[in-house]
Amino acid sequence: MKWEGNRESDNVEDRRGGSSGGGGAGMLGGRSIGIGTIVIALVGGWIFGINPLTILGVLGGGEGGAPQVQVQQAPEQNTVADDPQKKFVKTLLADTEDVWRDIFTKGGATYRDPKLVLFRGATPTACGQGQAAMGPFYCPADQKVYIDLGFYDTLKNRLGAPGDFAQAYVIAHEVGHHVQNLLGISNKVEQKRGQVSQTEYNALSVRLELQADCFAGVWAHHANNARQLLEQGDLEEAINAAARIGDDALQGGSGGAVVPESFTHGTSAQRQRWFANGLKNGSVKACDTFSTRQL
Ligand SMILES: [Zn+2]
Repeated sequence: MKWEGNRESDNVEDRRGGSSGGGGAGMLGGRSIGIGTIVIALVGGWIFGINPLTILGVLGGGEGGAPQVQVQQAPEQNTVADDPQKKFVKTLLADTEDVWRDIFTKGGATYRDPKLVLFRGATPTACGQGQAAMGPFYCPADQKVYIDLGFYDTLKNRLGAPGDFAQAYVIAHEVGHHVQNLLGISNKVEQKRGQVSQTEYNALSVRLELQADCFAGVWAHHANNARQLLEQGDLEEAINAAARIGDDALQGGSGGAVVPESFTHGTSAQRQRWFANGLKNGSVKACDTFSTRQL
């Protein structure tokens, strides 16, 4: 993926120890976690007392299925000022800003940039306590995307989805949830909570997640048209990542039975299909996962 040298966003907030604030160059984080792995049941928001749909962005893993995901702690060296992963995230976020601002403007609306928070381990959010083990997520109440960059190691080493474009897809998916928030889509789904059965609610959650995948594809479509980001093998990386974090893949991989009613993100095939749909068409209209019969 060709991203170096492109614009970097000012909307990244770094909460990883000493590198936050005005130019804390070279400082290592105060908390020494080191390299290691922690294993926590990934059960979305429930375990932390958070309404799972309020934390929309949990990228993989279902609230109902409780698959196990090992989250690797990012090495401490990631907090130094000249941090290539941070540069990547800032560049990617800027790219989504440019693409979505343009799409909103053409549609006669105004895009509000989300913030992206880098954290390590745990961090407070307007949706409750955010945990690295939940994977990257978006909180509509503060309009921020949260990511512990250790997830990228998890993605590569545990989930079998390496590559910078797979990492880009993760951010684009979370930004997709922000777009849903701005468009009032997530709010509509949230209003169904308590009015429909848990199974029906999970089905709505799947449609919401697949739409975020499709929006990630829409971003990739325009980013590539404008800046020729994609290199050989990039698409396969994103498609592979979409497959690796399907509910069925995660549930099966955790050794449990695959229970479709408990899916909240969609199967591997569905996630691949909707990402590809957005990528091919490049339009929000092509991402109507709510009225389609065939997911
Ligand atoms: Zn999501």
